[in-house]
Amino acid sequence: MQEIAEFFRRAGKTVGFVPTMGFLHEGHVALMLAARDECDVVIASIFVNPTQFLPNEDFEQYPRDFLRDFYICKQAGVDYIFNPSAEEMYGANFKTYVNVDDLSEKLEGKYRPGHFKGVSTVVMKLFNICKPHYSYFGQKDAQQVSVLKKTVKDLNLDTELRICDTIREDNGLAKSSRNTYLSEQQKEDAAVINKSLQSAKEKVLANSFTDAEEVKREMIEMIEIKAGEGSVQYIAVTDNELLNDIEDLKNFKGDVLVSLAVYFGKTRLIDNILFTKK
Ligand code: AMP
Repeated sequence: MQEIAEFFRRAGKTVGFVPTMGFLHEGHVALMLAARDECDVVIASIFVNPTQFLPNEDFEQYPRDFLRDFYICKQAGVDYIFNPSAEEMYGANFKTYVNVDDLSEKLEGKYRPGHFKGVSTVVMKLFNICKPHYSYFGQKDAQQVSVLKKTVKDLNLDTELRICDTIREDNGLAKSSRNTYLSEQQKEDAAVINKSLQSAKEKVLANSFTDAEEVKREMIEMIEIKAGEGSVQYIAVTDNELLNDIEDLKNFKGDVLVSLAVYFGKTRLIDNILFTKK
């Protein structure tokens, strides 16, 4: 893969890269099409990365279907699929990790300790293997974007990140490979997540909420009617760079990120909304 990437770089071609864990959907395809639009060569990786799953998480269960993914990549105009095995990526004696301090421990990191260390490490490895000029990520995973932007900046990585909007179902549910775990009823009910985010945005922009606690209270109320009491794991109202809590919403100016994790049955869903308060 390195030889192929290097060949194109030397030929003066721009290399675009879309890292994924496979079981592809329209969210992944949007990233591939953005890469196709901007780059001469498009590489997609399909790798369910073991180091970003906690021991009690769904690594084994995570949906996999290479043939299906292969045809989706082909349709989206991907030139190369990088599909390594875990042994190839980590070997028997792997010792080197990348971790973004503080940022990795916030929001998702509180509930998934070690997750972002796995993410930044594998993405660093994938960048070194695929040598992209441009790399494409989804806003769906907002904290992943913040963590990777910081990795790129702090370690002077020679790739530019391109962030694409979250692609949603008609009812507003963010597309996710994990949506395959949901029943039809749960998929319908989970539309409330985006509804609550939209409502939070409208009210924050209209200055109807003075502090973040009010935002959270209303969202929890809306969501838990559908998902059940105690289903919301967290809701955070933060800036979009260092992910620090915004307490005084009324006087805050800048990008506001409202993000959350919620359980529908055993399935953990994450989503977010990003907007600017002037
Ligand atoms: P994953 O395969 O879930 O690790 O996701 C691979 C890439 O696709 C990541 O950059 C995700 O943020 C992005 N992605 C996943 N779901 C969506 C979506 N619904 N809309 C846009 N991007 C997405």
